[in-house]
Amino acid sequence: MDVIVAASKNRHKIEEIEAITKKYGMAVISRRDAGVPDVEIEEDGETFEENSLKKAREIMKLCGKPTIADDSGLMVDYLGGAPGVYSARFAGEDGNDEKNNNKLLMLLEEAPAKEKTAKFVSVITLAFPDGQVLVARGECAGRIIDVATGENGFGYDPLFVPDGYDKTFAQLTAEEKNQISHRAMALKELERQLRKMQGVAE
Ligand code: IMP
Repeated sequence: MDVIVAASKNRHKIEEIEAITKKYGMAVISRRDAGVPDVEIEEDGETFEENSLKKAREIMKLCGKPTIADDSGLMVDYLGGAPGVYSARFAGEDGNDEKNNNKLLMLLEEAPAKEKTAKFVSVITLAFPDGQVLVARGECAGRIIDVATGENGFGYDPLFVPDGYDKTFAQLTAEEKNQISHRAMALKELERQLRKMQGVAE
């Protein structure tokens, strides 16, 4: 089986990715198992695409193997698309999920309910040593509510209600979230591109 190196250190993300790529004969291994030194890659791009591509390319250069990276975040319409690529460090470099959520609620205090629409975005990049690159974007639309609700998930999950649901991401089970999430959509798109690359009929 061919091997893909995961730029992410998040085991959960790696498993989600491998569920798709293994259908195409590609196992996912961690950076550490690929012998990549523990470097921190600065996410200084202005778009999810730039950051995702940068992470995939830099790790690929360090290990010489196909590498998969993802970059994701929340875009709120009332805030002109913020926090966007700054989602992880919205409340500052030493912030955390709770501080990020509190900052978001504070900024939305005056916003009318119908203007609190938002979407999660995920961009997954698969970079090959021969220069070939697959880029897959997935989105999940919804709205931000006023009070953090639910215990599951991470990040902004307790404040985000996906369209068609009356529960937050943090109230859904992992299985339910994984059916509709931005990452699931990006992985579906990656799957489509892998099929095309390998000449498999749609
Ligand atoms: P990264 O893609 O790991 O850099 O994540 C960016 C940030 O976006 C995370 O730290 C979270 O704050 C937010 N985020 C991305 N995906 C999700 C999600 O599925 N639920 C909640 N927050 C998310």
